[in-house]
Amino acid sequence: MAEKGTISVSTDDLFPIIKKWLYSEHDIFLRELLSNAVDAITKHHHLIITGESNHKDIKHNITVTTDSEKKTITIKDTGLGMTAEEVKKYINQIALSSAEDFVKKFKDAGQDAQVIGHFGLGFYSSFMVSTKVEIRTLSFQEGAEAVYWECDGSTSFSMDSCDKTDVGTEITLYLDKDSENFADEYSTRQTMERYWQYCPFDLKLNDNQINTEKAIWAENPSQVKEKQYKEFYTKMFPTGEEPLFWIHLNFDLPLNLRGILYFPKLTNDPNGNKGRIKLFSNQVFVTDETQDIVPPFLEMLRGVIDWPDMPLNVSRSSLQGNPKLKKIAARITKKIADKLNGLRKNNFDDYVGFWKDINPVVKIGAIQDREFYDRVKDSIIFKSANSGEWTNLSDYLERAKENHENKIYYASDEHAQASYIEMFKKQNKEVLILNSSIDPHLIQFLEYGGGGMKFQRIDSNLEDATTNADKEDSKEEQKENKQIIKLFKKSIGDKKVKIEVKELGSADIPAVVILPEHQRRLHEMQAMNLTERTFVDEYDLIINSASPLAAKLTSLDAAKKTTEVDLICKHVHDLALIGQNNFDPTKMGEFINRSNKIISILAS
Ligand code: ADP
Ligand code: MG
Repeated sequence: MAEKGTISVSTDDLFPIIKKWLYSEHDIFLRELLSNAVDAITKHHHLIITGESNHKDIKHNITVTTDSEKKTITIKDTGLGMTAEEVKKYINQIALSSAEDFVKKFKDAGQDAQVIGHFGLGFYSSFMVSTKVEIRTLSFQEGAEAVYWECDGSTSFSMDSCDKTDVGTEITLYLDKDSENFADEYSTRQTMERYWQYCPFDLKLNDNQINTEKAIWAENPSQVKEKQYKEFYTKMFPTGEEPLFWIHLNFDLPLNLRGILYFPKLTNDPNGNKGRIKLFSNQVFVTDETQDIVPPFLEMLRGVIDWPDMPLNVSRSSLQGNPKLKKIAARITKKIADKLNGLRKNNFDDYVGFWKDINPVVKIGAIQDREFYDRVKDSIIFKSANSGEWTNLSDYLERAKENHENKIYYASDEHAQASYIEMFKKQNKEVLILNSSIDPHLIQFLEYGGGGMKFQRIDSNLEDATTNADKEDSKEEQKENKQIIKLFKKSIGDKKVKIEVKELGSADIPAVVILPEHQRRLHEMQAMNLTERTFVDEYDLIINSASPLAAKLTSLDAAKKTTEVDLICKHVHDLALIGQNNFDPTKMGEFINRSNKIISILAS
């Protein structure tokens, strides 16, 4: 059956271009040939199952052999093989026409790297490293004759029969000078170990097993044990830290995607959380330069995604903007939301434990992705300052319904705002702790994004903090209050500070500083753009008439103890500012001097 032929049409420049193109990504040919071998075995496997092939005793494997003397590399598989007709059709015509197509596009695009990335050249990529390529193949079909094919990288090929006796295909590359390193076992092994560690079929290089790892993502999630997930994680990401939890992706039509994504423990290193999602295609590693496959807020996830429909020679640039990615990202996001809800419902204590690590991610996700928010809103939890328990907003609002509808009282600093928390507790009003740096943004989103929720920091409105705000003061009291205000005004001397006397819920606090919610937020927003910290100088100073200090002040004044009165007023004011986290540290010297003075007075 000896036969010669010419690869048709304008292909004179085919091979030089192939060579040049692939120069930068040398090992693509190996990926292409090995994946053809995997395809061929997969097909053969199916044919055996359906009884169309009667080679049911075959032990499927792929062997790669390097010969450093002859400068060859051979890839041999136990796949379905090809008949002479099939070689003509699939190698001479189809594979070739796609190679021609490539050349055309390549020329049109003026060597634009984008086009290269989009293009699967398959079998013909072998010519980027070889001067000659030989195929020996025997089809699984009964009575098939083994075929020999060779092509020297010019436009002509020849075909003949040969004496191959085992079913499958064997491809030998005669490596050119620039690519002789692939005849060297060591360097080829490095490539193979990088990409083929999880090969689904037995894969050897010379006598060494290459696929030593098990692709647990390809298994049925119900069959994989917790221990396996953890081991897999530490093998892939040897950080020493265990993952928090994970999801096993198992999408079928129309997306056909598998994978495992882990929530890692967050670290403080800003680069430490940069995600490591390794992209595979049918258990062949493709790249870890993944973008867009998860939404930005999930970039800290680690794991593998196996997307069989992805072109093998995918590059970062070709992956970007792929319309399917949006769908994949959406599916993954939904799956993550389901997982969070499931954990919260079934294992709330664990969930609270994870929350410390995952809360920024979930909150950012909620802000950036409305659909995600709608799914996870009940899994966004906050600690109640009253009970110490964790709660979501809908439960909180349900409890608060009678007292303050749709209004959420919160503290941003449990310690600094402890006196306010006390006042709220005394009135049985529940306060949530919102102390993460993302919380102000979340508040903004929740207030404007719907639901009509209103957030109010507990130190921003006195009416909510005091018991007797509406109580009419007696004439006597009014007179005394006026006097107290006068004393404070004299001491502080700042016209912007508004001073009032009110009865606060607790007698232990002499005074508080109140920054109205909107004003404080405005200040916080402006402060975000400044490197230096600034302080609000317009605020209310509320003197607590329930505190014994207030009464003491007027009697000290009556006794003409002006120094003491001045010291007390200034000090009470400063302490209230500190309580509001609005104390300017440049005034610290003055504060310390005064403290010393007060101590001396106490001691004398
Ligand atoms: P693709 O794999 O995208 O179809 P290729 O250029 O890699 O394109 O291969 C072209 C065709 O040649 C394959 O579709 C297959 O029919 C055939 N082929 C290539 N390698 C093998 C192999 N090892 N065993 C059987 N058939 C093969
Ligand atoms: Mg292929």
